[in-house]
Amino acid sequence: MDPLFASLTSEQKKQIWEQVERFRTAFDSLSCFSPSDDCDETIVSAHTIQRKALSLIARDGHVYDFRADLGEVFKNGKDFKPQLKGINHVSTFNGFCQKHDCELFKPVETEIYTAAGQQHFALFFRAFAKELHEKIQGIKSFPSFEQIQKIWPDFRIETYRHFDEFRLQAMVATIKLLEIKSWLGSIYKSKEFRRVQSYVVAFRTLPTIFCAGFTNLLYDFNGQPCQNLFDAQKLYPGVSISVFPTNPGGVVVFSWLDTAAKLPVQFCNSLEAIAANRKTSAIIRMLFEYCGNIAISPDWWENLDKPTQDMLLSRFYNGTHSGPRSADCLKDDGINLGDWQVAYACFV
Ligand SMILES: [Zn+2]
Repeated sequence: MDPLFASLTSEQKKQIWEQVERFRTAFDSLSCFSPSDDCDETIVSAHTIQRKALSLIARDGHVYDFRADLGEVFKNGKDFKPQLKGINHVSTFNGFCQKHDCELFKPVETEIYTAAGQQHFALFFRAFAKELHEKIQGIKSFPSFEQIQKIWPDFRIETYRHFDEFRLQAMVATIKLLEIKSWLGSIYKSKEFRRVQSYVVAFRTLPTIFCAGFTNLLYDFNGQPCQNLFDAQKLYPGVSISVFPTNPGGVVVFSWLDTAAKLPVQFCNSLEAIAANRKTSAIIRMLFEYCGNIAISPDWWENLDKPTQDMLLSRFYNGTHSGPRSADCLKDDGINLGDWQVAYACFV
C-alpha cells in the first residue's frame, strides 16, 4: 500500500471522502460541451457506451464498471474491488443538452457503422467530452487544505501537497483539452470530419469489453515513448479509444486530430505489428492500462483466474503515486486474455 494511504485511518479517509462527495454534488450543474450555441435548457445524462451495446455483454442487466477514478483510489487505497453495476448507470455523464446530444451523436447512435468520417468525429468528441468533464469536475471538487483541516486538524501540509500534485496535473491536462475543444468546434462547423484520423481493428466475434475512453498514451506496444503532454508548443496528442459491437462482431477505433497525428500513428503501428492471434490480449492490456471508461462482461471477468484479475487490476494504479507506469507496460506478458478474431485492421 502507498505510504500516503497507510498514514490515514479508515475514519479519516471516510471523513475526507465525504467532503469530496459534498463538493462533487455542489458542482454537478454543468453546461453543454457542443460547439453550437443554441442549446436546450436541459442537460441530459447520456451513455458514452451505447446502452444497447452494454446489454449484449450484461448478465441480468449488469456489467463490471471499472472507473480509474482518483476518488476511488483515494477512498479504497489498494483495496479497490470492481463492482457489478446496472447498465442504466454505466458510462453516463451530463455533458450535453438534449438537442445537441441528438445532433452530435446521431451518426453513431442511429446509423450502421461504416467507418464514416462523421462517425469517427462523433466517437472522438464524446470520449473527449467525458474526459474534459471529469477533469473539470475533479479540479472543482477537490477540497482545499483549509477545508480538510476543519475535519482533521492534524492533517499535514506535506500529505496534502502529495494529493495536490494530482490537481496540478489535471489543470495542465485541462488546458490542453480546451485547445482540442476549440479545434473540434472548427472541424464541426466546417464539416471537415476527416481531420479526425483513425485506426480501426475489426473483429469477427463480440468483444468482451466495451470502451469510450480518451487518454494520452505514454508508451507504445514496443515500449517506445509516445506522448508530449508537457510540451507547451504542441497540441496534446490525445487519443480516443472506442470499442463497440457491429453486426456481427465488433471494432476498436483509435482516433486523433490530424494536428497531433505523429505519436498516435506510432502507437497504432506498434499494434499493427502484433500477430493477429495476440492482438486481442494486447488490446485488453491497453484498455486496463489507459482507459477508465470501460464496461466488462461479467462472464468473461469471472472466468479469469485470480492472478490474471490481479494483474489487470494493478494496471489501474500505474501512473499514480502507488505505481509509476513503466515503459514496457504494454509489452506482451504471455497471458492469453481471449481472441475476438481479427477480421481486418486499417488506417482511415
Ligand atoms: Zn447544447
